[in-house]
Amino acid sequence: MQTRHHEASGRLVLKGVPASSGIAIGKAFVLDADLPVDATERVTPDRIANELQRFQSALESVTTELTQAMELAVHEGATAVSIVESFQLVASDALVHQSIAQHIASGLSAEASVAREFDAHKTVLYRSGDAFLRSRAQDLEFVKERIIAALRKRMLSHAQGTDSIVVAPHVTPQDMLFFKTTQTLGYLTEVGGINSHVCILARDMGIPAVIGVAQATENICTGSLLIVDGFSGVVVVDPDEATLVEYQQKMTQAEAYREKLGELVHKPTETTDGVRLALLANVDEPDNVDDAMMAGAEGVGLVRTEYLLMRLGRYPTEAEQTAWYLDIAQRTYPSQVTFRAFDVGSDKFRQGIPHVEDNPALGLRGVRFLLYRPDLFQQQVCAVLRASIHGNVRLMLPMVSTLEEVERSKALIEECKQHLASQGVEFDASMPVGMMIETPAAAMMADLFAQHADFLSIGTNDLAQYALATDRTNDLVADIFDPMHPAVIRMVHMIVQAARTHNKSVSVCGEMAGHASATEMLVGLGITELSVTPRLLLEVKRRILHANYNDCVLLAEQLLNCATVKDVHRILDSLSVSSKNDLLA
Ligand code: PEP
Ligand code: MG
Repeated sequence: MQTRHHEASGRLVLKGVPASSGIAIGKAFVLDADLPVDATERVTPDRIANELQRFQSALESVTTELTQAMELAVHEGATAVSIVESFQLVASDALVHQSIAQHIASGLSAEASVAREFDAHKTVLYRSGDAFLRSRAQDLEFVKERIIAALRKRMLSHAQGTDSIVVAPHVTPQDMLFFKTTQTLGYLTEVGGINSHVCILARDMGIPAVIGVAQATENICTGSLLIVDGFSGVVVVDPDEATLVEYQQKMTQAEAYREKLGELVHKPTETTDGVRLALLANVDEPDNVDDAMMAGAEGVGLVRTEYLLMRLGRYPTEAEQTAWYLDIAQRTYPSQVTFRAFDVGSDKFRQGIPHVEDNPALGLRGVRFLLYRPDLFQQQVCAVLRASIHGNVRLMLPMVSTLEEVERSKALIEECKQHLASQGVEFDASMPVGMMIETPAAAMMADLFAQHADFLSIGTNDLAQYALATDRTNDLVADIFDPMHPAVIRMVHMIVQAARTHNKSVSVCGEMAGHASATEMLVGLGITELSVTPRLLLEVKRRILHANYNDCVLLAEQLLNCATVKDVHRILDSLSVSSKNDLLA
């Protein structure tokens, strides 16, 4: 694929992968957190006070980070405690602080001052030839990196301002949450996979995004005017007037289309031949519930509670969690809300995972982490139970791969109920406990799990990742990672059959549920509940309103017999064209 070309007009057109639909037009803000620090970088005298302030704030955030690390380290044992202690010692050295402040006062930037000071000490320690002192040099390097990372985050918040388009080698889910506060218009990255949690967040927030744009940070300068087309994956740098007008018109058309979809809000979600479906919403925070309800959601099918951890940067107390869950449950009432227990690990929040993992997606993630840290799991379960008081709350387990995980989780939930009951706390004693089906093991054993869980929900993002053995965040294997792979379709079919046999409800809450071209297939496979990001809800409803159930069943049969993912797409694409024509008529 050609990914970069200059047009006759001189404008530069880059091509990437569309990751979150919509069009953004604005000034670029290029962020390269991996750039080496220039230890000679100077600032003008009027910025010295500001640099001192930035250093103080960065130091505070690193101190907090280390205090939290220590809270977690005490559970890990003496070695972890002594490692964090030595970091704390370095970070709290008043002489080092004084010296950095002097560098800043002399006109060096905060980053340059930190680098100079720490590097000077490190050189002395390395030269000592003493093994113990050399290991202290590594502590210095760690603390230096943390302070510089904190400074760069703050630099982003200071410098980015509002209304810009972020250009970065890659971004993290935490960055995404931060972008929301700076009202980022859009973003583009050099790497990443479209079903990574970053892209899911971008779609939830309605921020247009293009990923996999090779050498974007080299080709784009901060301040350049950019067009990011999250529908096609095209990025135009310094567009000419005609291109600008063309994209402004596209934005207006997209808006008009959204307004037209708004007419569907109060229509019941059923196929042309009367098969009723439930459309639910995936929600990240309380405010999303209102968006979901306005778009006609019949409830909340998935709350990714780990986003609360990412926002706070720590594990919240039981009281904080109770308030958050209760707020969401009350906004959803009388409809139902499904809280998924913290899916910590992999590309999400990683605090409490004892060491760096070589294969984090295959590591201490989801329910495995919760059972490894029953103290955190109990706190969360108690908070969800407290929020269940109105009877509209369900709890769901993430990343289950063995029956023991379900049994141990249920035993823990029982203990929490007994504990709360002994304290006279009111809760819904029959709160349903369900599980995600997102590992091939869970899919293959869905008939068994359906007998132990109150409901099932299919996480097609991870199901595809694990079934196809492709990292969902890795652009190098993005062509293999495709949830429309016949293997995944067959698994969804198996799961639906198993749930039916045991009379249990089954929904799809992975990104496939919101993928417009998958709607008819999912209906045909027998799915009756779809949970999608609120922004996509009406588009999915539109598809359902135009679908005929019997045709969907025939389509599903055809797809179940496909040999390749290409065959699946060929069939679905021909359907998209005819269905879109219907709709716009
Ligand atoms: C999934 O895996 O499909 C899912 C819904 O969970 P997450 O995207 O949060 O991993
Ligand atoms: Mg998942």
